[in-house]
Amino acid sequence: MTDGKRLTVDDEILARARIHAREVLDEYDLDEYDLDVDLDALEWETSARAKRRAGACRWNSRREIATIVLTRRAYECYDWEEFSAVVRHELVHAWEFQQFGESGHGPRFHERAAALDAPRHCRSFTEPRYRLRCLEADCEWTATRHRASKPVTSPGRYRCGSCGGSYEVEHTESGRSWTSGSGYGGAKSALGEEW
Ligand SMILES: [Zn+2]
Ligand SMILES: [Zn+2]
Repeated sequence: MTDGKRLTVDDEILARARIHAREVLDEYDLDEYDLDVDLDALEWETSARAKRRAGACRWNSRREIATIVLTRRAYECYDWEEFSAVVRHELVHAWEFQQFGESGHGPRFHERAAALDAPRHCRSFTEPRYRLRCLEADCEWTATRHRASKPVTSPGRYRCGSCGGSYEVEHTESGRSWTSGSGYGGAKSALGEEW
């Protein structure tokens, strides 16, 4: 995967999240909850490194700016319905920070999260152990595996599920990848304990 493509995914995440935030604040009847998120005092970021949390919200009290951080891997693992619920959950945190300078998962949070159909708890997700990715230039096919099945250990003997081209396997934790059985063995022995 090139850096150009990563940028595109991050841009897509941020654009969809911003649009969703506007829609949510327009569509839901929030007067009752006084859920008036100041979008001008809200910033958005993506994280390529977060592994367990799908989203987070930071507060800068000096600038009075809330920053919602969305995890790229979660966007890639979830469907939009799940991911947009993460966006709404973090919007409630942003609102609490903007209003009170602090945020948690107490009754006040719970009430607003329910009004937005957002989960009360921050979603955590388990990253798949392996990711398969087609090597053909114009094919976007990827798949995930939690276990070292044959397509993971011997990618040379299988084909991309979409175009029939060859694919690589990435060990998501380390970022190491291989395209053959010997590559798999090499990556596994190089990582040793970290495997
Ligand atoms: Zn939360
Ligand atoms: Zn393909």
